[in-house]
Amino acid sequence: MGGHLEEIVILEDVFLFMPDGSTQRGGIAFSPSGIVALGDKSAVREKAGKNSRVISLPGALVIPGFADAHTHFLAGALQLTRINLRSVKNRDEFTRKVQAWVQENPSLPWVLGQWSDVFLGGEVPGRNWVDEASQGKPLFLARFDMHSAMVNSRALEIAGIGRKTPDPPGGRIVRDPRTGEATGLLLEKAMELVADKIPPLTDSQKAQWLGNAFRYAHRLGLTAVHDVFFHSKWEDLNIYRQVLGEEKTGLRVYLRVSLRDLDRFLSALKEPNPDRFILDGVKGFIDGTLGSTTAWLEEPYAHNPGEKGIPCIDDPEEFREGVRRAASAGVTVSLHAIGDAAIGFAQDIYRECIQRGLGNVPLRIEHFQHPGEKHIAAMNHPRLFASVQPAHLLDDASVAEERLGPRRAALSYPIKSLLDRGCRVIFGSDWDVADLNPLIGLEAAVTRVDRAGRFPGGWHPEQRISVSQGIECYTSTPSLAIRIPRRAGKLMEGMEADLTILDRDITSIPPDQIVSAKALMTIVGGHIVFDGR
Ligand SMILES: [Zn+2]
Repeated sequence: MGGHLEEIVILEDVFLFMPDGSTQRGGIAFSPSGIVALGDKSAVREKAGKNSRVISLPGALVIPGFADAHTHFLAGALQLTRINLRSVKNRDEFTRKVQAWVQENPSLPWVLGQWSDVFLGGEVPGRNWVDEASQGKPLFLARFDMHSAMVNSRALEIAGIGRKTPDPPGGRIVRDPRTGEATGLLLEKAMELVADKIPPLTDSQKAQWLGNAFRYAHRLGLTAVHDVFFHSKWEDLNIYRQVLGEEKTGLRVYLRVSLRDLDRFLSALKEPNPDRFILDGVKGFIDGTLGSTTAWLEEPYAHNPGEKGIPCIDDPEEFREGVRRAASAGVTVSLHAIGDAAIGFAQDIYRECIQRGLGNVPLRIEHFQHPGEKHIAAMNHPRLFASVQPAHLLDDASVAEERLGPRRAALSYPIKSLLDRGCRVIFGSDWDVADLNPLIGLEAAVTRVDRAGRFPGGWHPEQRISVSQGIECYTSTPSLAIRIPRRAGKLMEGMEADLTILDRDITSIPPDQIVSAKALMTIVGGHIVFDGR
């Protein structure tokens, strides 16, 4: 089908985010074939032709489509129906919210959701907080970082956890030091003792929620997401295949599966798949998180000199070989590394891949939260990407100061240092671990003002970046961090028309108002997939 048969849409009276990072007043014309024209209003009209559909959006800002480089979409989809206790401030509120939720959701057999201790002021929840409120239903609440969980007495009973139950390898059942009874807190692999007992959802339920989640992403202005399976099974790929096959256009989803599934991934690449079903890469874990004291550090934690965190690799040589094979086969590699030791380990493997010329695909470090100077310098190579979720610093600032001490904390989330050295930085949300809204991460990177307000002028403000740098990390750079690069991510003629339209020019408002902007329209491949006017 030729371009002349496709409808051309013109957006007028808008601000355009230009490839050089400047903002320009004008218009933009696009069709499913791509961006047709942009710039001066009359020139755009002339080039697009008089049969074009003209939409005037005074004051709106057109940017390349938001691409979230780190999500767990299926988990996020399920989260939409779960209780969220992440902003709870005390025991009473915690208990009341569980009670209300159980009453509002009588059909659900388990109480599932997330909690956070960030605002609990040092109080540690236990099963006694929720046993009565859960009204006989088993309860499993993951800590927001997914590295620990709290459960109630009914759930412990279902899992058969008693005083004599030993800690599983790689996990710990937290116990009352006086009685030896489980408190309800389960760390790392001990979570699985209960999680394994939760009845799985049917595939059609999952598909329905996944479709809802794609539409939710469009409402937030997202045109693409890089999706990491997390606690998901290989078979769940069929749910993506089904949902992505149902509609021709919509969110671009770049799937990454576990590094352990590399062989299945390579054979699945040869199968016929719907166009929107994009198998992009594999992901491996090197360590845990700072909040759970499982981030792997070179030197001990500041608050606990006996602890350096946990490298969670069973067999280092097998792990390295997996990465080498993936890189050689042209599969994007993502390695989760938060502590400096984990980041160094990932860089060591990547250095070998680059020096030996194994493939030419992107090699990404997911999170890249607490590097040393040498690790920042080592990222300066076009194949290497630091995949950062700036919204995490809103919660991590205080934790990092306490657990890392001032010297290491000062290099946390070193986004400005990376960009100054020409390193490639891509932004993501880490939904469902954090909120999916890209404007939250953008504002966090620009202001670095933490949620608790402990650092009102910005946490290590020398690492703040400009709004236009942040937009690039959330739009153009992610389009390079995939297996098969696309002509997208910049407002230029001939580029694919993946566009996000915000209701105001976020480059010219006070930075602490970025999150109050809203997506007005979302366009994927020249099709309007969300119109919020
Ligand atoms: Zn993640």
